Amino acid sequence: MLRYPEFEAPFAPLEEAVLPWTEAAKVQLLVKREDRSHPFISGNKWRKLKYPMRTAWEQGKSHLITFGGAYSNHLLATAAAGAKYGFRTTGIVRGEEVNNPILHWCKLFGMELKFISRTAYQDKETLHAELEMRFPEALLIPEGGNSAEGMLGVAELVNELPVATDHLFTAVGTGATLHGLIAGRNNTSHHFHLHGIWVLKGMSALDSSFAADARGPVTLHHDFHFGGYAKTSPELWTFIQSFATQTGILLDQVYEGKMMYAVKTLLEAGVFPEGSSLVAIHNGGLAGLVSKS
Ligand SMILES: *Cc1c(COP(=O)(O)O)cnc(C)c1O
Repeated sequence: MLRYPEFEAPFAPLEEAVLPWTEAAKVQLLVKREDRSHPFISGNKWRKLKYPMRTAWEQGKSHLITFGGAYSNHLLATAAAGAKYGFRTTGIVRGEEVNNPILHWCKLFGMELKFISRTAYQDKETLHAELEMRFPEALLIPEGGNSAEGMLGVAELVNELPVATDHLFTAVGTGATLHGLIAGRNNTSHHFHLHGIWVLKGMSALDSSFAADARGPVTLHHDFHFGGYAKTSPELWTFIQSFATQTGILLDQVYEGKMMYAVKTLLEAGVFPEGSSLVAIHNGGLAGLVSKS
């Protein structure tokens, strides 16, 4: 039975993280715990699903089809949200058939998985046309929830930030979250400086698209991808471990570990004046931590 995708205000509190490096820099670091909104529909994936799912409901679509790699947090969020609100879900997975905890959970939530070759996956136009013809009752949600409607949901997060925020940090994958935060800031009287931490290598060409949208300062950081998407190093794992040990907050190695490592590095470099108020968005992703350690 289809149910209206309620998406009530998520439980995503601000939590202060006090660490030797925040004390040394004399700044306040708050973590926006978007990871706590739901065990599986978490972080920016929750924000990005809200409006597309409401659109599906309004258009009388009973089926959600979406796309992702085998470790996609978005696939899992869609599977869990589909189950919660009564939609049939299909996940189109890039590459040869594999299994891992994320895909296992997707299946437990009733998602049907279809593995397709990288070449077929890349040809989005053909793929979308085929799916639309075959499943007229379905709404197609782009990979990562990266859509204008997705960004609308992310923009709402800005209203939950303290007025005194000086700097706001987010990891950047597709960039939909950063675009959403820029839109959210444009619509409010917030003046904070936005920082996007790229978790992929060699993405500079996209930087100007963010600047073009923004009415305030936004800086893209390219020094914290650790060699590329999902690449790690012993240093990153040591950092994740010490952050968890000192705060009780777990960070994944694909996104949030790299984002927070950037915050620490910038603090230690003295980039932010004493008394600054920093907010780092924790966008979840802990399923990836379980899958890959
Ligand atoms: C998807 C994801 C991101 C990246 O978000 P984009 O909107 O694609 O830039 C960051 N952190 C986590 C935990 C994610 O799952």
